[in-house]
Amino acid sequence: EAMLKLAGVEKAYNKGKANEVSVLSGIDLTIGAGEMVALVAPSGAGKSTLLHIAGLLDTADAGVVEIGGEDMVGRSDRRRTITRRQEVGFVYQFHHLLPEFTAEENIVLPQLADGISRKVAEARAAELLSQVGIADRAGHRPNAMSGGEQQRVAFCRALANSPRLLLADEPTGNLDPGTSDQVFAALMELVRGTGLAALIATHNLELAARMDRVVKLENGRIVVG
Ligand code: ADP
Ligand code: ADP
Repeated sequence: EAMLKLAGVEKAYNKGKANEVSVLSGIDLTIGAGEMVALVAPSGAGKSTLLHIAGLLDTADAGVVEIGGEDMVGRSDRRRTITRRQEVGFVYQFHHLLPEFTAEENIVLPQLADGISRKVAEARAAELLSQVGIADRAGHRPNAMSGGEQQRVAFCRALANSPRLLLADEPTGNLDPGTSDQVFAALMELVRGTGLAALIATHNLELAARMDRVVKLENGRIVVG
């Protein structure tokens, strides 16, 4: 079952203007449930643009974008926002946790926003924190945690509402190499325990090789790795 399907996706910035820049041209990429795919791209290749289109934060100029078999092209902003909230989890290079809230609260809040009861949300947060090995940090604020711990919390937050698609942009790119390996392993374990489809951008070829498949993005096109 294809969780994410991109076909013939094209994107240019400043379209129709003198400074038009073509970023993606004819992107074909399908990711199945339970599949972890590494996205390797030199800087400026269009990686962020691709992740934003896949996660419904940006629109393609042409092509097919399907999430969970649902065609998202031409849908209203409202519909796209609902699908994004329900189906897509994002992780970035920087954690973007709310500094005034504890690790647990950072994972509970998006669930409350989704109508989940506090009791259920807290149990889910505890379960996720335990899965990434930092149950003992539940009551800590981000600035009282290490970079690796902060990023683990960000993974838990991304999965709190049980999305079916995870999009990650250099999730361990801000960590030193040793920490990066450990934190990446925690992310892989978290994803493996679910049927999640995951597209994870990384510059680290060793980490990329641990995933099910590697796709390379070069000059706006997917080049099979
Ligand atoms: P962007 O946010 O524009 O996509 P990145 O955060 O991916 O850019 O990268 C910013 C810069 O740091 C780029 O020049 C990129 O090549 C470099 N960079 C990022 N992560 C790594 C890494 N792990 N190894 C080497 N270079 C990296
Ligand atoms: P990556 O994440 O691989 O570094 P991006 O998707 O961020 O690449 O950007 C791809 C190309 O598109 C780059 O040349 C970048 O300068 C350009 N670009 C990105 N966003 C915009 C924008 N809003 N307007 C114009 N050009 C942009």
